[in-house]
Amino acid sequence: MSRVAEHLPVAPDVAVEQIDVSVFTVPTEKPESDATLAWDATTAIVVEARGGGRVGLGYTYGEPATAAFIRRMLADVVRGRDVMAVGASWSAMVEAVRNAGRPGAVSMAIAAVDTALWDLKARVLDVSLARLLGAVRTSVPVYGSGGFTSMTDAELVEQLSGWTAEGIPRVKMKVGTGWGRAPRRDLERAARVRDALPVDCDLFVDANGGYTAKQSARLGVHFTEIGVTWFEEPVSSDHLEELTLLRELLDIDIAAGEYGYDLAYFGRMCGARAVDVVQADVTRCGGITEWLRIAALAAAHGLQISGHCAPALHAHVAAAVPNLAHVEYFADHVRVENMLFDGSLFPVAGDLQLRADGAGNGLILRIPDCERYRVTA
Ligand SMILES: [Mg+2]
Repeated sequence: MSRVAEHLPVAPDVAVEQIDVSVFTVPTEKPESDATLAWDATTAIVVEARGGGRVGLGYTYGEPATAAFIRRMLADVVRGRDVMAVGASWSAMVEAVRNAGRPGAVSMAIAAVDTALWDLKARVLDVSLARLLGAVRTSVPVYGSGGFTSMTDAELVEQLSGWTAEGIPRVKMKVGTGWGRAPRRDLERAARVRDALPVDCDLFVDANGGYTAKQSARLGVHFTEIGVTWFEEPVSSDHLEELTLLRELLDIDIAAGEYGYDLAYFGRMCGARAVDVVQADVTRCGGITEWLRIAALAAAHGLQISGHCAPALHAHVAAAVPNLAHVEYFADHVRVENMLFDGSLFPVAGDLQLRADGAGNGLILRIPDCERYRVTA
């Protein structure tokens, strides 16, 4: 007996009729890397939820096998359910995956379906997704994000300065080159960028877990002296006790959470006082349903939340929480979203301005332009 099935209407007015999944692999312009990973493409798993003559769109980015999992494990779980009762669909999906294992790709699969279902509900009601979720703001601040370790110094400065020239007052670069093997290079590049940016622009660094704890303690002092204000994943976010020690030791803000897949992880993170700002990724953490709960958890600990990657999906959910820090305007995902979807938002003076009149999240697949990136999965 499901915990949720008994509460569902037998015949909802508008039912989820179909879940379609597409996989698109978009190559990068050139190979890219951060401290702990190199890549040459981004794969988006796009879910279209159909019902009531409308289509809701959500996505995650990861392995093509995520699509097969959605088709095999999740589509039938939500088909026929009440479009208005997204929470019931989400709960039923979480129940269904118990033996498949919730964290990781399974949580990303749930996220893609959940974000599509919330969008479908908004479109059936003909309201913007932010309004449906309970908007507390009409725009969301972003930070420009990229600055890969694979870039030359000139490319790095050009990209980050480009965002500030567009009016974005905060930017992020990667450090931790080669699993922390080039700390001098990291410091020199951060200093070079800091010198090139306007004084009122914040500079963030992200080590993607590439440093050791002691390295982070030493480098964190230097990053602070340079004027860096945000130190993301200095060590792996698996090691909450080390993040806690670094947070206590350093003046710089410690941020992490992009690999948090469920509320319980964020409960441990907040309980450990491990971060100054909680990062959560709506395409990984279980979707809009869980992202909102994580934001509330952060608020209960006096913390702000920042949306990790996927700016087109985060814009609306981020508008619905009072304790928002910002949304990551990640170069790779901005590019992928614009290649695959019509309806993405572009920052104006550092903010994504939400459309008041648009139904749902405003995204639609760019057919036929997206077809060249479609892969079979
Ligand atoms: Mg990061």
